[in-house]
Amino acid sequence: MEHARTARLTSVLALAALLAAGGAVTAPATAVGEGPNPGTGQYTTAHLSTYEDLAAELQDQDARQDALELKVIGQSVKGRDLYLAEYVSDPENPTILYLTQQHGNEQLTTEGALSFIKALGTGKSADLLENVNILVVPMLNPDGAMGDVDFSLDDYLAKDRHLTRYNANGIDLNRDHVARTQPETQALHQNVLGAYDIDYMIDLHHQGTQSEVDGELVSGSILYPTTPNADPELVQRSQQLGAVVHSAIEPTGWGRLGKYVGGTAETISRNGIAVEYGVATLLFEMRGMSDHYREDYILGGRSNGYLIRQTVLTLTETARAIGDGSIETADTSFWDTLPEQTTRTE
Ligand SMILES: [Zn+2]
Repeated sequence: MEHARTARLTSVLALAALLAAGGAVTAPATAVGEGPNPGTGQYTTAHLSTYEDLAAELQDQDARQDALELKVIGQSVKGRDLYLAEYVSDPENPTILYLTQQHGNEQLTTEGALSFIKALGTGKSADLLENVNILVVPMLNPDGAMGDVDFSLDDYLAKDRHLTRYNANGIDLNRDHVARTQPETQALHQNVLGAYDIDYMIDLHHQGTQSEVDGELVSGSILYPTTPNADPELVQRSQQLGAVVHSAIEPTGWGRLGKYVGGTAETISRNGIAVEYGVATLLFEMRGMSDHYREDYILGGRSNGYLIRQTVLTLTETARAIGDGSIETADTSFWDTLPEQTTRTE
């Protein structure tokens, strides 16, 4: 989630109030379905890929796929290699960057990115890769993802391993895109953003579980750059990127998108990277985090399937639209009526 306006104290009080009111900490079981519903299953994280799983899978795909160049762009605070999966068939092609897990507790986007990379190796995507260059930086914050941090996660709610938003130093990487004090953001800027001619970027996150539009919980929310320093033409291209995503997700039946309510700060990637590099950016916030100390932010494993599919669909369809040029005529008028999401209060 891009914004964390609420202090930890508030969440502790909210949880205490919930307990005092006799509310169940575990979400009530409801029908297992596709798409957002209140019952999301147990807060287990054992089924998620570890950093070691991710690294092994990327190396395996690198060995299998001629088109894939796996690069190490730097190391995390705790010394974990940070990976870039690079597909560059022609430097003249338009290029898109997919970034996941700046926030370590927002992992299903990384699972989806890994599925996307595997699918690129099946041969069905050969035509696609001729016309678009694809860069994937999965799990920019592996220390947070593995709970290997220099602060306590004792109040986090998931069973098994804990995952946290912050890097090992307790820094929010998505507030570090101007100062760049952390090795993870330095690696991204020096060896990806500053090293390639990137046209588009999707920054993939997870938000809380209670966001809704028109009284219905959403599967995610999207937003383009909203800093006044972003060139209007760049904002238009960002809105076209959003249009491709919206057209891919809404018809699924399980996907429902709202407009994210975001600010103008350029310390966040959606705004800062657009202004500094002229990259058309889209923030995609998917529903629910893998771990948190707040009950209303964490999502159980029952919802994993459709959220991973939402990621794969997003990456596949945007790469296709950039490769065949259809993104340049994408209709952005839906943005005028896309409702801003609100938070359900019960
Ligand atoms: Zn986030």
